Amino acid sequence: MENLLHQLSDRVWVIQAVTNTGIIKLNDRECLAVDPGGDKDNAKYLLKTLDRLGMELAGVLITHAHADHYGACAYLKKNTGSQFFASPFESSLIEQPLLEPIFLYGGAEPIKELTHKFLLAKPVTVAARLAAGDWEYRGNTFKIIDLPGHSTGQIGLVCDDLLFSGDALMLSDYIRKFKFPFYSNVTTALRTLNLIYNSNYRMLIPGHGPLLDPAAYRRESDFTIRNLNELVEIALAELSSGPLTVEKLLQRMARKLETPMVTPIQYVLDRTLVLAIINYLYTNDRVEYFFEDSLWFWKLKS
Ligand SMILES: [Zn+2]
Repeated sequence: MENLLHQLSDRVWVIQAVTNTGIIKLNDRECLAVDPGGDKDNAKYLLKTLDRLGMELAGVLITHAHADHYGACAYLKKNTGSQFFASPFESSLIEQPLLEPIFLYGGAEPIKELTHKFLLAKPVTVAARLAAGDWEYRGNTFKIIDLPGHSTGQIGLVCDDLLFSGDALMLSDYIRKFKFPFYSNVTTALRTLNLIYNSNYRMLIPGHGPLLDPAAYRRESDFTIRNLNELVEIALAELSSGPLTVEKLLQRMARKLETPMVTPIQYVLDRTLVLAIINYLYTNDRVEYFFEDSLWFWKLKS
């Protein structure tokens, strides 16, 4: 277990687990955690680690409201006096977690398969909603930056020239495996990925996977930018053979990417990217819609 913990500066550590969790020392006694992970086991491991480091948990920063990043918070709330912090948009989801499966299901209350702990965390109350800029917390100044695209209100935290980026940068290993990266807005995702590409932090700590030095995170963001553009091109190529509903376009893209959808969770996550691509193409005047026999079709704009 010991080797999961990596020290990155005299006051910053990372627990490298399924979700990477940051630990930032605030003073002699207290610390701030970043993205404590998805469940009770992650929370327990974090508390055990803090115990060993001789620190108490004062606060938790949640980069975005995906259950694998903040599902551990309910246990931390019950067992510590910790406060929780997030952006205004993500705070709404953290306080009302059912919103996530509701919007993935299309606005109606979700079927039970979409209330798995991967999509539905227990709620916690957010102590303060953080805007981009300097954030003063217990005598420390951190920088909060907006990194939308993966999640609408996704933020990153900068401390000692280290960027905790949540899932703003989805890594090539994930994309090679799952083919559909989770981005809910292609325009802001490309902007965020370019921002990361052009930045110069000592290290980027992604939500999942290895810690990245500048050369590595530039290589990764370049890969993901190319991948998103390729996915847009695949959608355009499929639409070039005639009008398609979103469902049909999703099926065609899954075929093309040789990654058949076989579960409701996979379906709604993959569909989110296709809907994001449709919005991107619509906003850029590349496609238009029409209705026929109660089906909603999209076609290339002539
Ligand atoms: Zn996420």
